[in-house]
Amino acid sequence: MKDAFAREITYLRLSVTDRCNLRCRYCMPPAGTAGGLCSAGELLEIVRQAAACGIRKVRLTGGEPLVRPDILDVCRGAAATAGVEELCLTTNGTRLPAMARPLREAGVDRLNVSLDTLRPDRFARLTGQDCLGDVLRGLEAAAEAGFTGTKLNVVLLAGFNEDEIRDFVELARRYPLEVRFIELMPIGEGVHGTFLPAQAVLDACPELLPAGDGGVARRFRLPEGRGMVGLIAPMSHRFCTGCDRIRVTADGKLKPCLHSGKEFPLRGLAGEGLRRELLRGIAAKPASHRLTETGRSGTGRTMNQIGG
Ligand code: SAM
Ligand code: SF4
Repeated sequence: MKDAFAREITYLRLSVTDRCNLRCRYCMPPAGTAGGLCSAGELLEIVRQAAACGIRKVRLTGGEPLVRPDILDVCRGAAATAGVEELCLTTNGTRLPAMARPLREAGVDRLNVSLDTLRPDRFARLTGQDCLGDVLRGLEAAAEAGFTGTKLNVVLLAGFNEDEIRDFVELARRYPLEVRFIELMPIGEGVHGTFLPAQAVLDACPELLPAGDGGVARRFRLPEGRGMVGLIAPMSHRFCTGCDRIRVTADGKLKPCLHSGKEFPLRGLAGEGLRRELLRGIAAKPASHRLTETGRSGTGRTMNQIGG
């Protein structure tokens, strides 16, 4: 299905929960959020009808998807949905030591793991939990379970992890990972004064060699590296002309754009009625976000509700 600007919409990002076992300071309020959540049945009906509208790739996100007790049922159902060619999941990695293999067996094709620091004290300060070791063990468990093409998401934070850019790039040299540096967006809790442009990565690592674009990321390789480096720069390098995605929040509202306040409630709908609403949402996608002009996201939501 094409939107009003002739962009083919093939990618659904589905937030399965707003709950999380971490409290990353730029993402989530300390007390958490507690909206109503879609049931597994509701989520799978959304996936089915979205696939009928032309969605081919589904990403489960949150909040932390792995705190949802029925996450494996959701994965199995989404992976088995006719038309879904790729099922991905974004996680903070803390529960992967136990969950990597069951997720693989449930049909998840690829993982994105978020990790902003390799130093235990900083990890505890940023997330409120002293469990960096679990994430590192989770990355190993993912490789052992047979996951390939795993991406590591690193949010760039001035005064916090800019001195670790080279350490993360070194991971991409040693392991077959894509390390993706992401610019902090002024959304929800988005911490003021900590924005660091993606250019900081190129300044710190002049040896990076351009390797084309991959979705929203500009990609780079390293001489003799096993992995890749990606830069996702929604603030300094707008990529809306190639946008192929829609989002559904943890409480079942379709968001045509991450940064727009417009939402289309999907709960309570099924079959043709749900399809009609999905198509209305796709048709309402704006040409681009206005983050650069306004300095603020228009979403009115925190990131744990939308899923990044
Ligand atoms: N809990 C999972 C995780 O952390 O990967 C999935 C949900 S989390 C909201 C998805 C991604 O959004 C993470 O990589 C996180 O770092 C990123 N994120 C959260 N708030 C952000 C912000 N204000 N700007 C940029 N990225 C953000
Ligand atoms: Fe939780 Fe992910 Fe948000 Fe961190 S970024 S608080 S892990 S939802």
